[in-house]
Amino acid sequence: MASLSTNAFHPLEPTDFSQDSKKVIDFIADYYKNIEKYPVLSQVKPGYLKPQFPDTAPYSPESLEDILKDIDASIIPGLTHWQSPNFFAYFQANASTAGFLGEMLCSGFNVVNFGWITSPAATELETLVMDWMAKMLELPPPFMSSGNGGGVLHSSTCEAIVCTLAAARDKVLTKNGHEAITKLVVYSSDQTHSSLQKGVKLVGIPPTNVRCLPTAFPEGFSLSPLTLEAAIRKDIKSGFIPLYLCGTVGTTACGAVDPVGKLGKVARKYNLWFHIDAAYAGSACICPEFRHYLDGVELADSFSMNPHKWFLTNMDCCCLWVQNPDSLIESLSTKPEYLRNGATDTLNVIDYKDWQIALSRRFIALKLWVVIRRHGLATLRFHIRSDVKLASYFESLVAKDSRFEVVLPRKFALVCFRLKAGKNKAHNENLNQRLNKKLLQGVNESGNAFMTHAVVGGVYFIRCAVGSTLTEERHVEGLWKLIQDKATKVLLNATY
Ligand SMILES: *Cc1c(COP(=O)(O)O)cnc(C)c1O
Repeated sequence: MASLSTNAFHPLEPTDFSQDSKKVIDFIADYYKNIEKYPVLSQVKPGYLKPQFPDTAPYSPESLEDILKDIDASIIPGLTHWQSPNFFAYFQANASTAGFLGEMLCSGFNVVNFGWITSPAATELETLVMDWMAKMLELPPPFMSSGNGGGVLHSSTCEAIVCTLAAARDKVLTKNGHEAITKLVVYSSDQTHSSLQKGVKLVGIPPTNVRCLPTAFPEGFSLSPLTLEAAIRKDIKSGFIPLYLCGTVGTTACGAVDPVGKLGKVARKYNLWFHIDAAYAGSACICPEFRHYLDGVELADSFSMNPHKWFLTNMDCCCLWVQNPDSLIESLSTKPEYLRNGATDTLNVIDYKDWQIALSRRFIALKLWVVIRRHGLATLRFHIRSDVKLASYFESLVAKDSRFEVVLPRKFALVCFRLKAGKNKAHNENLNQRLNKKLLQGVNESGNAFMTHAVVGGVYFIRCAVGSTLTEERHVEGLWKLIQDKATKVLLNATY
């Protein structure tokens, strides 16, 4: 009788696993050794990949050597090197040796901890590590497991926002009836991350019910509590139901910080769910000199930040804390018979599936726990401060060159600057935009650095986000020299 040979197929044989993993680890180590040799921004054209590989899957196994060769030849050229020390675009996505180790352990065990029973250690370590993080950030006790609140790890801020929006929505709709969904209003500033808009659509609130309240230069593009209150009152008068406010500590375009305490008071007065998005800048708040930006956080219902940005934790990892998990759980829990178990029935354990969108979830807590243990609070603070120092150094270089201007006072490690169009043209925004676009294009196409831009208050500027794990002073100096060279060329060719 024909049978599948069982001694030919061992997809998880420990000796092979060890040998092959070591080859991949050496491959990655070589990649890091050579990372400065690659153009930071990938130079390939759309569709470059298809002709390089067969258009059907292989019938027989291929060797790891062949696969790594193809990665070298076809994949690496199509990478934008986020871990390059010359990466200054968007916000950094910190990798670290500890982050890799944690990630390896997480995928090594490959447990699926949707409930306490499915891996008690994964659930209990997540609770513990979220309490550690909360203490490092000096979040008030109601956000901790000992104070009836608690934290959960998500993959992204978008997800955290969707879940808190759903919790807030259901709390209000249980009282008002489901038809009231068209009346719910969500408040943010015109600087709030686009994930709020997306989240609102996903939870079924009409996108026209988002109030993107205007911010301005004199307030550093932070949301004014007076503007907020006026908008809320207007909406109440028109029969709307104010639901949710998203405040930001460290906006994506320019690092603006909303006044957490003052906004929190307005939110409490009108019974809004108040979420604080500190995706980028939250990491900095482990340093006492930045912690004041979170003053008033006790007035928030939820708070989130991304260790996968600036906390040496490889993708992906987003921390979300809530003061009252009940409303999250009421909104997100499911209780099918096939998942029933004695532990859940005691109501004494956490089933994190009820705190997120998906059922399945990774043991991300292990990664964050390894990162924190391998560095310690003192080193993590040093890491933040050294990036801030480098950014402040870059800012001083910009300020010394009269052809340039720092557009906004630096926040954290993000410098917003631009080339000026010349004395008499200083107010010509069109010309400014053209010059700065050319300058940015010149820098990025050189392959020697990568930055991105933003437009805030009608002004186009270049963002230099310092903070890649490998960035040192010499890279910041190299970047500045590159910018100056390209600026000279742009100004020479400029037609006034
Ligand atoms: C990066 C960023 C986000 C998006 O984070 P994801 O984890 O990618 O969803 C949201 N808000 C702010 C302020 C950000 O900087």
